[in-house]
Amino acid sequence: MARSFICRCEDATVDDVRRAFEKGYRDLESVKRYTGLGTGPCQGKTCLAVAARELLRLGATPAEVLPFTVRPPLEPTSFAALAALDPAGLSLEAGVPVPVPPPAAPRPSAALPARAQVVIVGGGIMGLGLAYNLCRRGMKDVVLIEKGYLTAGASGRNGGGVRAQWTTPTMIRLARRSLEIGERFASEMGINVWFRRGGYLFLAPSRAQAARIEKNAEIHARNGLRTRVLTPAEAKEVVPELDERTFLAASWNPDDAVVFPWPYVWGYAARAEALGAKVLTFTRVTGFERDGKRLTAVETDHGRIACEVVVNAAGAWSPEIAALAGVKLPNEPERHEICVTEPLKPWLGPMVSNLGSGLYFSQSLRGEIVGGMGDPAEPRGIDTRSTLRFLARYARAITECIPKTAGLKVMRQWAGCYDVTPDNNPILGAAGYENFLQLNGFVGHGFMMAPAVTELMANWMAGDPPDEIFERFTLDRFEKGEVGGEDFIIG
Ligand SMILES: Cc1cc2nc3c(=O)[nH]c(=O)nc-3n(C[C@H](O)[C@H](O)[C@H](O)COP(=O)(O)OP(=O)(O)OC[C@H]3O[C@@H](n4cnc5c(N)ncnc54)[C@H](O)[C@@H]3O)c2cc1C
Repeated sequence: MARSFICRCEDATVDDVRRAFEKGYRDLESVKRYTGLGTGPCQGKTCLAVAARELLRLGATPAEVLPFTVRPPLEPTSFAALAALDPAGLSLEAGVPVPVPPPAAPRPSAALPARAQVVIVGGGIMGLGLAYNLCRRGMKDVVLIEKGYLTAGASGRNGGGVRAQWTTPTMIRLARRSLEIGERFASEMGINVWFRRGGYLFLAPSRAQAARIEKNAEIHARNGLRTRVLTPAEAKEVVPELDERTFLAASWNPDDAVVFPWPYVWGYAARAEALGAKVLTFTRVTGFERDGKRLTAVETDHGRIACEVVVNAAGAWSPEIAALAGVKLPNEPERHEICVTEPLKPWLGPMVSNLGSGLYFSQSLRGEIVGGMGDPAEPRGIDTRSTLRFLARYARAITECIPKTAGLKVMRQWAGCYDVTPDNNPILGAAGYENFLQLNGFVGHGFMMAPAVTELMANWMAGDPPDEIFERFTLDRFEKGEVGGEDFIIG
C-alpha cells in the first residue's frame, strides 16, 4: 500500500499525523513527540511546514501549528569539533539561541468539569502514571491539569535510563518493580516504549569511587541484584571501545535498562483516558481555594474545579504550585542538558556512566547515542535553554571515555530541569493540608521511579495501607533533621 511521508528522516507519514490528531494531539509540539517528526538529521527543515499544513487542513488553529523550538546545532557537528572548544572560555550564555516571544497558547484540550474527586497538577510521567493507576483501582473521577502539552516537562526531556543500581534497599526495590513494569508495558498498554535491558556500566575513575562501587555491590548482592565489580579489562569485554586508562574499576549490572520516554508518557495518558480520567492540556493552575485544613478547589486560567484531593505532581514547578497554597517545599529546579547523535547500527550495549564527571550515554533502539552531563557551574532555577558550553564539556568527556566517538555527529541538543531535594529523595504524602498530596522531588531519576511509585501511591489513595515510602519521605523529615539521603545521582 502506498504511503505518503511527511518526515523522511523519521519515516513519519501523513497517516501518523492524522492518527495523532484524532487522539487529540493537535499542536505541533505534541505531534512531533507523538510521531517523531522533525527529530531526525534535518531537524524539521523539510517536514515542519508540510506537517503544519496537514494539521491546519485537519482543523488545527494557527496557534497550534506555531513552529516547534529550534534545537542547536544548526548542522550536525562532530564531537571532535566540539571537543576542540575550550569549555572554560564559554559562559552559560554562549551559543544560547535567541528566544522567540512566547506564542499565544493553544486552546485547552477540553472544558474544565465543575468538580472531581482527585485533581492532579502536572502532565508528566508522575501525574499520568498516577491517573492511570488510580483508574485501575476504580477511582475514575480523576482530572489531570497540564499547563502545556504532555511531555513538556522533564518527562519529555530525559535520558530514559532505568537502573536498579542504587544505594538503599528502598530505592532498589522501587527500581526493580519499575523494571518489571517496563518489561511488560508495551504489551499491556499497547504502545512500543523501546524497552531494552542492555545493563548499566558505572566507571570509577578514582580509588574513592572504586571503594564506593565495591560497597554498593555488597548492598546489591544482599538485595538480589546481579551487580559485579569489573576490572578495566573485564569492562572492555562489555564495551570494547572504552579507553581503559580512564577508570580503575566498573560496576556492571546486566539487568538495567533504557526506554524511549515519549511513548511511555503517551501510554499512561491514553490508558488513563480510556479508563475514565480526564487529561486537560494547555490549562494552568493559578491558585487554590481553602477551608481550614483542606483545599476545596483548584483555580486555573480556564475556571475552577472543586475537588476532594489535590496531588502536586508538577516536577520542577512543584515548589511554585505548593506556594500557591502557602506551602513551602525545599525542592529547587536545576537545568540539565542532554543531546543526541546521528543514528548508528547497534554497537553499545549498556548505559555507560563515569562517576567522576557525571557523564552518561546509551544507545537508543533508534540507534542514536543519547547522553548528558551535569555542570557544577549551573545555577538553580527553571531554565531549559541549550548551551554551547555543555556541548564542549560533553564532547570532551565522551571522546575521552570512548575515543572512537570523535567522528560521531551531534544532531540535536535540549535541556530539562531536575527537581532537586536536599537529600535527593522525593517528597510524598500530605503537606500543609490533609488533602494536598505531594508527588515530587524526584531529582534525576523520576522517570524510572514513576511506574513503581505511582502504583504504590494509587493503592494507598484507594485505601490500602501505606507503603513505608509514604511515611519516610514526608515533607516534615526536613524539619526533623532526618536528612541522610541518596548519593548515587548521575547527570
Ligand atoms: C536531562 C535529563 C535527563 C534525565 N534522565 C533521566 C533518566 O535517565 N532516568 C530517569 O529516571 N530520570 C531522568 N531524569 C529525571 C526525570 O525526567 C524526572 O525525574 C521525571 O520526568 C519527573 O517527572 P514529573 O512528572 O515529576 O515532572 P515533569 O515531567 O516535569 O512534569 C511536570 C509537569 O507539570 C506541569 N506544570 C508546571 N506548572 C504547572 C501549572 N501551574 N499548571 C499545570 N501544570 C503545570 C509542567 O508543564 C510539566 O509538564 C532526567 C531529567 C533530565 C532533565
